[in-house]
Amino acid sequence: MPDNVSSTTPLSPATATPLSPATLAVVAGRPPRGLDSELNTPVSLSATFVGGGSLGQASLGYGRFANPTWVALETAIGELEGGRALVFASGMAAVSAAVHLVPADGTVLVPHGAYNGTHSLTGLLAAQGRITVRPVDITDLDEVRAALAATAGPTLLWLESPTNPLLEVADIAALAALGHEHGAVVAVDNTFATPLLQQPLELGADVVVHSVTKFLSGHSDVVLGAVVARDEATLAALSSHRTFHGAIAGPLETFLALRGIRTLPLRLERSQASAADLARRLLAHPAVTRVRHPSLPQDPGHALAASQMSGFGALVAIEVVGGAAGADAVVDAVALWVPATSLGGVESLIERRRRHGNEPAVVPEDLLRLSVGVEDVEDLWRDLSQALDAALAHRGTV
Ligand code: PLP
Repeated sequence: MPDNVSSTTPLSPATATPLSPATLAVVAGRPPRGLDSELNTPVSLSATFVGGGSLGQASLGYGRFANPTWVALETAIGELEGGRALVFASGMAAVSAAVHLVPADGTVLVPHGAYNGTHSLTGLLAAQGRITVRPVDITDLDEVRAALAATAGPTLLWLESPTNPLLEVADIAALAALGHEHGAVVAVDNTFATPLLQQPLELGADVVVHSVTKFLSGHSDVVLGAVVARDEATLAALSSHRTFHGAIAGPLETFLALRGIRTLPLRLERSQASAADLARRLLAHPAVTRVRHPSLPQDPGHALAASQMSGFGALVAIEVVGGAAGADAVVDAVALWVPATSLGGVESLIERRRRHGNEPAVVPEDLLRLSVGVEDVEDLWRDLSQALDAALAHRGTV
């Protein structure tokens, strides 16, 4: 894990030395230190908080408005991303709150290969006549520039980098500048990279979105989301969306997510090293026709990822012989890898993404997404390579 220092959060008022993201993951969002103070913010299960009188203005108020356990997680994610965070009931609740930053009749530019939930939500809003949606290839600056120029009125430029599951890499700084030239709000779904590998606000984005369910929580036992913004007006709009649409986080999930963040640097370091190792080995397997991982020098996103990210991440996508049947045969043949959707946990998962009816058509039928966990890489390779042999029986059938 590169020890790049990007946070400006001081260790204490007495020292202004900024902490590295790996340290912030451990220390951010702790209660104030004092004799017998708790090391961890506890799970706060109050539905309401004592207020009234002169306390009324400053109090947390009610459990749908705020919660001390949320505040601890929000502090940690905010410090890691370099902005102010709000937690939501799920990554989709966070995506939805950010998409609603664009007013009715506005336009959302969405990556053609974005996460399928984002496609489905924006498609639904478009079908209801609330917004216009334009899919764009976010690896093509000219295409995005032309789409922005052809768009009138309020615009949201939605970026995801690397994308799920094609692992395409967007030039966030260049795209944020382009978006701002056209008056667009620029949002980045940073779920795949995490703030440890990429900090979109620093690259010029206005809003960052997370499925906290994934790497941040890290143990496949929580569904949660977060949005991070840098300016007060955006934060207020997101907060009011959360309060009145009501997609609030459960305090226990919030506690678990913060506990997960404490080990994010270690988990990510292991997972992404194994992902890069497996990506190299997969290139040589006869059942594999294409490997997508930004660590590979031949990957189209390699140079950009190397300059914009401090690591290449723990997701790998492969295409295999035998089309969808070949890919399904691989999923059926694994024993250690878990055939399941989701990603970013300590356990390695494998999934053919087009099995979902709402997966964008740009995703190949034979694409398998691999979320590399923290198991021993030799065990992972042995299981994956024997499972890939199953696809060879389907070779030549498509
Ligand atoms: N964004 C990305 C990139 C995702 O992969 C996902 C879920 O897979 C989401 C958002 C939605 O998150 P959640 O499942 O926590 O609602």
